[in-house]
Amino acid sequence: MKIAAVRTHLLEHRLAVPFQSASMRFDRRAHVLVEIVCDDGTTGWGECLGPARPNAAVVAVYTPWLVGADPLETEKIWARLYNALRDQGQRGLALTALSGIDIALWDIKGKHFGVPVSTLLGGRFRETVKAYATGSFKRDGVDRVEDNAAEVARYRAEGFHASKIKIGFGVKEDLAVVRAVREAVGPDMRLMVDANHGYDVLEALEFGRKAAELDIDWFEEPVVPEQLGAYREVRAGQPIPVAGGETWHSRWGMREPVETRAIDILQPDLAGVGGFTEARRVADMAALHGIRIVPHVWGTAVHIAAALQFMAAMVPNPVRVNPIEPILEFDRTDNPFRQAVIKTPIEHDQGVVKIPNGPGLGIEIDRDALAGFRMRDD
Ligand code: CA
Repeated sequence: MKIAAVRTHLLEHRLAVPFQSASMRFDRRAHVLVEIVCDDGTTGWGECLGPARPNAAVVAVYTPWLVGADPLETEKIWARLYNALRDQGQRGLALTALSGIDIALWDIKGKHFGVPVSTLLGGRFRETVKAYATGSFKRDGVDRVEDNAAEVARYRAEGFHASKIKIGFGVKEDLAVVRAVREAVGPDMRLMVDANHGYDVLEALEFGRKAAELDIDWFEEPVVPEQLGAYREVRAGQPIPVAGGETWHSRWGMREPVETRAIDILQPDLAGVGGFTEARRVADMAALHGIRIVPHVWGTAVHIAAALQFMAAMVPNPVRVNPIEPILEFDRTDNPFRQAVIKTPIEHDQGVVKIPNGPGLGIEIDRDALAGFRMRDD
């Protein structure tokens, strides 16, 4: 079997109500899928984290090394592509584009052998995962405190055991939001906060010390990802566990945060860290250092399906009778193509998501949806 063609599919939806994290404003949703077609007709799908057009451009840069290669040789292909851009790459788009390709290759490998990717990774430790609701962005034209409290209460009513709140807009206002959410949902629901690297160290310390009484499971991306010393100061100086990792790519990007314990919880993204090939190395490294993994997910159902296959095969750490289970980041914000791109949507039931068990990623792409949400040129 040989790779015959590599294509990218740019998708977008303009939002009726824009929203923002501390670091980014969203007036549209845009994501890119990678399709790899083999000479025997087998087709694999992947997705790249981050900006759609630049990712598609880098996938095109890699394509000459892919066409004619054996798609089952995922390790060889990974090494060749990484090395092709190594001198100017090492992270960012070089890795997010490579991730989308690697995911598609594992989808092909699973389809070729007739098993889910999780079986290729060593076996399924679980058939379902609990999902946590990601939302609570700052939306235009509404009171953020009331809006976020009502939104998280809705997730609780839908059965979610946990939800993550966007902060990083100002310590005082952020504390008011998290307090209002805690009051709205009661003491049992698990809450996390995500500053999207919007604070400096002093703000992060102040927020963490004051918010700790609200029973927060983790404090995500408190400060900019380049400043690992600042991460360590935040971790040492306030009581909430620190999480991060969606912007650190490859084993080399993960090494220093893990080895120097800049974080309590590592959040590799399958579509950013380097696909399945690299995520398993990162998971091993984290386990070696006793650091918990909660994969980051932000994209379409292709990305979610990849994360689910990986999570199915995550080895409990430690192995015990009642193990610590991974939880799925489940984006609840407006994105009509998120699930439309596949024929059987990956939905939750009372906050629990079933892991697909078909070959590869276990999903089937809906090409009509790809056409319907194709990105416009303007
Ligand atoms: Ca995040």
